[in-house]
Amino acid sequence: MKKTLKQLAAWLKIDEQLHEDVTVTGISIDTRTIQAGDLFVPFRGEAVNGHKFVEQAFEKGAAASLWLNDEPNPPENRPLIFVDDAEQALQKMAIAYRSEHKATFIGITGSNGKTSAKDIVASSLSPYFKVQKTIGNFNNQLGLPITILQLDEDTEISVLEMGMSGFGEIELLSRIARPHLAIITNIGEAHMQDLGSRAGIAQAKYEITQGLLEDGFLIYDGDEPLLQELVAQDPYTETKAFGFDEAHDLFATQITATEQGSSFTAAGIINGDFTIPILGKHQVKNTLAAMLVCKAMNLTDEQIRTAFAQIELTDMRMQLVSKGSLLFINDAYNAAPTSMRAAIDFMQSTTIRPEKWLVLGDMLELGDDEQAFHEALAEAIDAQAVHSICLYGPRMKWLYNQLASTFDSAHLIYSEADYMPIVQKIQAEANEESIILLKGSRGMKLETILQQLS
Ligand code: ATP
Ligand code: MG
Repeated sequence: MKKTLKQLAAWLKIDEQLHEDVTVTGISIDTRTIQAGDLFVPFRGEAVNGHKFVEQAFEKGAAASLWLNDEPNPPENRPLIFVDDAEQALQKMAIAYRSEHKATFIGITGSNGKTSAKDIVASSLSPYFKVQKTIGNFNNQLGLPITILQLDEDTEISVLEMGMSGFGEIELLSRIARPHLAIITNIGEAHMQDLGSRAGIAQAKYEITQGLLEDGFLIYDGDEPLLQELVAQDPYTETKAFGFDEAHDLFATQITATEQGSSFTAAGIINGDFTIPILGKHQVKNTLAAMLVCKAMNLTDEQIRTAFAQIELTDMRMQLVSKGSLLFINDAYNAAPTSMRAAIDFMQSTTIRPEKWLVLGDMLELGDDEQAFHEALAEAIDAQAVHSICLYGPRMKWLYNQLASTFDSAHLIYSEADYMPIVQKIQAEANEESIILLKGSRGMKLETILQQLS
């Protein structure tokens, strides 16, 4: 972006004397990563007051800074824009920049798979368009406006991840982004604490339709009855469903996995065989959502196929990692019941290697029912299909208690807070026949096991 302070003030509807010759070329809320030309946005939190860093921001090349009206001692002779609320100012600027930007905007929400779908969509379109996507997990009421304000003027497609923890948040993000295409990857159990039920979660995700442009459409997980219901009750939104049922607009059959990735046959709006360098049926679903985006952008099936060879996911999402003769699936980025089951199902059905190991860590933030969620995983685990199970974290004790009667101690271990028993078991017993899943919530840091093995 390239805006004068005067233009920014007009976006913010502020009428005051400004250094008119100053041009802002980006936005930053963090002096550790600020770039020359950025507008610095200080936030005033309970622990830290961002205004303390304004001088440092200028020393590092900031072109200008916001300053809260009720914050004392603004520096003199520095280009400042005075506002009442930094978050609102950020959002207003994003709305204004968005409304004058020519790119196609794609918004992605869902309980699991937002980042994966974002990466797959962006990788699929990148060979053919100038694409910019949300960096990392910058998917909330600050991250999304910042991502929009960082768009280059010649970007053709903006892929935006939208996260939430309560009602109203996705609506806000969607009204800022005004997407041409919206995706709901799935409905899970994350944020049950705040939203009460899976139906509540579905409703909160469905808010993405609130900002959808009139000629745009919603791409959604057709296998989820709660979303089917919401779509059926909504006469205004055009939709396309993806999943595994032949009633959907796009569905996948014949899914197979190898050490190179997954192959499947697509049918419906797009027909034919496709291969992606990622594992897991759930990632095939995210890929179907991306294919509907590609189709909307008028890519041919051949162009989609070519792009799929180069899909890159952010680390630790069903990532294949070799360590000597051992093969790991590092899915340690996060875990909630739905994604946990998806990963376990994948392990039990894959033929990549015969000896299946599950290394599972606690699922956090599940609210009052956390014990039941951990215990229920026992139903998903097929003792015939799994060789060894290593459980890590205080909550996994609940699952351990469920499994202890089915598995003998040679095949089931539990460790509350120490990775070493698990590392040692893998070192001693796993071999070139083994495939080892690492999965737990972010706080459990199961990737440490990989690091300690080397
Ligand atoms: P966050 O809320 O942390 O941003 P996210 O929605 O961006 O998560 P990802 O980071 O893509 O999701 O994936 C998180 C976990 O969910 C990974 O373990 C991934 O393999 C799994 N996952 C991805 N897509 C799906 C899906 N459609 N259904 C179930 N699990 C999925
Ligand atoms: Mg994410």
